[in-house]
Amino acid sequence: MAETSRGLMLEEPLIFEQDSPGLCGVDLPEPPLVIDRLGGLERQEAIGLPGLSEPAVVRHYTRLSQKNVGIDSVFYPLGSCTMKHNPRINEKLARLPGLADIHPFQPASTVQGALELIDLTAHWLKTLTGMPAIAMSPAAGAHGEFCGLMTIRAALEDRREKRLRILVPESAHGTNPASAAACGFTVDPIPATARGRVDLAAMKAKLGGDVAGLMLTNPNTCGLFEDEILEIAEAVHQAGGYFYCDGANYNAIVGRVRVADLGVDVMHINLHKTFSTPHGGGGPGAGPTVLSAALAPFAPLPAVVHDDRGFRLVEHAAQSGAKPCGRLKGYHGQFGVFVRALAYMMSMGADGLRQASSDAVLSANYLLAELASELTPSFAGPCMHEALFDDRFLKDTGVTTLDFAKAMIDEGFHPMTMYFPLVVHGALLMEPTETESKDTLDRFIASLRGLARRAKGGAAASFKAAPVHTPRRRLDETAAARTPVLRWRR
Ligand SMILES: *Cc1c(COP(=O)(O)O)cnc(C)c1O
Repeated sequence: MAETSRGLMLEEPLIFEQDSPGLCGVDLPEPPLVIDRLGGLERQEAIGLPGLSEPAVVRHYTRLSQKNVGIDSVFYPLGSCTMKHNPRINEKLARLPGLADIHPFQPASTVQGALELIDLTAHWLKTLTGMPAIAMSPAAGAHGEFCGLMTIRAALEDRREKRLRILVPESAHGTNPASAAACGFTVDPIPATARGRVDLAAMKAKLGGDVAGLMLTNPNTCGLFEDEILEIAEAVHQAGGYFYCDGANYNAIVGRVRVADLGVDVMHINLHKTFSTPHGGGGPGAGPTVLSAALAPFAPLPAVVHDDRGFRLVEHAAQSGAKPCGRLKGYHGQFGVFVRALAYMMSMGADGLRQASSDAVLSANYLLAELASELTPSFAGPCMHEALFDDRFLKDTGVTTLDFAKAMIDEGFHPMTMYFPLVVHGALLMEPTETESKDTLDRFIASLRGLARRAKGGAAASFKAAPVHTPRRRLDETAAARTPVLRWRR
């Protein structure tokens, strides 16, 4: 038995390392010899596929699947991610053959239900945000940012104005400056105040005739509502710019805030965060992007429209009568994610969505209040959907935020987000969401309080050793980053 196997948590070698040449899961007759079917381009040597029996293959992949720590196995308090429970009814509906097995090239007359589903999902999102238009095709939050910025660029070109600067607060998610740069804008950072919010005076001082717009996350990545957002929107508009809102944290305000009332011109919605779709392994996601009347004519194609003949797709600029900024991806968007989002919205109902955002904020504030005695909250007062702490409580203990996170694994909790946002030192950012019970939160709180006391009591060495109850001990992250081994060699 491998040294790193613990109990029934078995070490899992690569499937190539389990190779027994000649073994096979099936017993088929030799194929007939076909001479030169590929004109001499046939493979001349074996490609080295491993030989395993069927049970060995089943066990290999089943064990790998069990190593997947996720929201379905433990409390997963990552901040800036909204790792909520994804109701199974959504999955069931997304797998219905009439929804899962259709093809984007089918004639519109044969997929009226699917087009109606896209239209209905769009309708819910527009209604919840109060925004008049939406682009459904962006495939993720970052793609929605890209879509919004393309739309802004198209609107500026239409105004024949050259504005190339985008203002982005220091606390922003890294995708914000990246999307702006990818769209050809230059990024100008805005500092945060001691209250963890945009410095309004500093922001106003940066406004000018070359500013295309501002990207602001609300609630922001410190888990705080930008309470001067109306003044911010007005100042940006007065300077001739557009106001982009990063809506990744929309889970905190659904049903409570009409985004349109905040003066927002464009906002992406991460369906996979706010409206339930399993995520975290890199997809799938969807980032529908709502638009104000000013930007609506520049929305990308395709769009689903409805008239007395039914639903159809507008695919080309000439058909649309508007000035679309372009096209973001093949086909019509992440359809399976739309199914999940619509199932979620319809099963929750408007009242349920409002309840969910309220409960998410309540849970975060419960963590903030209960942990304030042992950890150091970064900002005064209540928070929105996430509770932000920094590492001042670890001062002089020799324990870092990373050590603390590793010790949490031994306690049975996936660590929170660490070292983000960058505006506080050694950040610990926790987002419990609405789906955790008070019981889970109480266990989490007791565990974190205990760890904090242990750190302050001089147990740095035990933190440096953590995790000890996992199959793997602490990894050498520097070596992993500097000399990654990405290919298995026989
Ligand atoms: C998650 C997130 C994004 C990016 O969304 P993706 O769907 O991962 O591309 C952008 N901004 C914020 C604040 C986020 O939390």
